[in-house]
Amino acid sequence: MIHAWRSAWQSWRERTALARRVIPDVLWRRTLKRFAFLPREGEREARLRRMTSLFLDRKEYTGAHGLVVTDDIAVAIAAQACLPVLELGLERYDGFVGIVVHPGQARAHRQHEDESGVWHEYEEVVSGEALEGGPVMLSWRDVRGAGASASRGYNVVIHEFAHVLDMADGQTDGVPLLPPGLPRARWVETITAEFERFTQAVDAGVETALDPYGAQAPEELFAVASEAFFVSPELLLGEHPQLYELLRDFYRQDPEAALRGTASPAAP
Ligand SMILES: [Zn+2]
Repeated sequence: MIHAWRSAWQSWRERTALARRVIPDVLWRRTLKRFAFLPREGEREARLRRMTSLFLDRKEYTGAHGLVVTDDIAVAIAAQACLPVLELGLERYDGFVGIVVHPGQARAHRQHEDESGVWHEYEEVVSGEALEGGPVMLSWRDVRGAGASASRGYNVVIHEFAHVLDMADGQTDGVPLLPPGLPRARWVETITAEFERFTQAVDAGVETALDPYGAQAPEELFAVASEAFFVSPELLLGEHPQLYELLRDFYRQDPEAALRGTASPAAP
């Protein structure tokens, strides 16, 4: 009984949230046009739109350095953030609420202790950052350019939200909270082997389809590979077929097949 009551309450809560956060048709169509890697039709597109409304209702945006967060900015970020969890559920993002939007890249303060116990403090220029428990920081200039940069497999929103998925088990280590049916051993084995291969290629100066930043750490490879998986899947499939399959089984989506399915000569 309690369960039935709770699910009725949840669906009421979702209905009221959807009513509060209706995305006007014109704005939604403009968003899909700007970011052509988003599903543009059918059931997936309808689900993304619904999830985007719920995301807008659950998250809090703040503009930094005088940036005013317009509806265009809020929807652009929300729709791209929802794409990776379209099949996993928005609950995956329950661990944080705040999203801070900077006009451009931002300086992040860094501290780390080296092997001899000396502390180093420095500033790093970043396009985005995800902290455990929030907030997620994003550069609007990079978010806005995601349509154009998709052919290079670059997407700052998906990168940072892949880190959010990675942190969900309490550790940022390139192993997200895995769904049942995807064994941890398979994940670790694949990510480790792919990371080794990728690092060797980057060190040897080989031009890689994925962003060389992925060679920093396994968690960065997961984030960088997730970007390409969603916005330029053929790049990832061509260079890292096993990693593509792993992400396909994790995200429960097959963007490359979806792309082939809609790439008919009759398409506009
Ligand atoms: Zn990263």
